Amino acid sequence: MTAPLLGEARPTHHRFVLGGFEVTAVLDGRSVRQGVHPTFGHDRSEADVAAYAKARHLPADRYEAVFVPTLVNTGSALVLFDTGLGAMGRGSGAGGFLRERLREAGYAPEMVDVVALTHGHPDHIGGLVEDGAPAFPNARYAIGRAEYDGWVSGAAIPPNRATSRELFLKLVPPLAERIDFLEPGDSVVPGIEAVEAHGHSVGHMAFMVESAGKSVLLWGDVANHCVFSVERPQWQVGFDDDKARAVATRERILDWAASDALAVLGFHMPFPSVGFVERAADGYRFVPETNRLAV
Ligand SMILES: [Zn+2]
Repeated sequence: MTAPLLGEARPTHHRFVLGGFEVTAVLDGRSVRQGVHPTFGHDRSEADVAAYAKARHLPADRYEAVFVPTLVNTGSALVLFDTGLGAMGRGSGAGGFLRERLREAGYAPEMVDVVALTHGHPDHIGGLVEDGAPAFPNARYAIGRAEYDGWVSGAAIPPNRATSRELFLKLVPPLAERIDFLEPGDSVVPGIEAVEAHGHSVGHMAFMVESAGKSVLLWGDVANHCVFSVERPQWQVGFDDDKARAVATRERILDWAASDALAVLGFHMPFPSVGFVERAADGYRFVPETNRLAV
């Protein structure tokens, strides 16, 4: 008998305990994208980026993107951060598997009390609606005021985000009656606070989650690749809507995380997307969590 080839297999959820809270990272999907440059090292030469990729044993012409919404159960509220790609992701196979994988992790979509959005890009809001109805039917919502206003007015939205803006206008304003608009420092629920992290998008927010002396910073898209944007935070990134501001935010948050040995969880960090930041020559290094949080 010959064993069949089964193809790749990966875990799709990962839960850890944080003080009195539980944090579950869920893999909405993944895709291999062509072209490291000019997405990463947008303001550098293709040769420089290729040389850095080679030095780090990575291909210079493609990279994997993962999409990782995160659920925090505070014991009194179940808060989902970002919603993945939704139905459009299932069309391409890249993602949109959040709801079925939430079930595998022990949660029904109806249990979600709050959907907090780091920002309005399609891979973060695409799963808000399923079949024309709210995908998390009992949830209220939270998003940065500047982010919401930015997409609605269109004033600070770059031309390459025209289709992203269409999607935002289709999905988010219809929910407005149930949205809490956040300023930096506002609480989503007790123990979860919005942190200003503008630049990747006009009003992008990170969220600090703290319970019983333990904390993790959900940094959303402050850094979009564990090597290119953590080790070279000063490199501009094609996905960042305000590139200079995104670099400043990335350097500030990486410096904070490294200085305070802060646990971080990034939407596009390698699954399960939780780790730490250490200082390194000319930048930082993403160090995946290896059960440091479990002891
Ligand atoms: Zn993203």
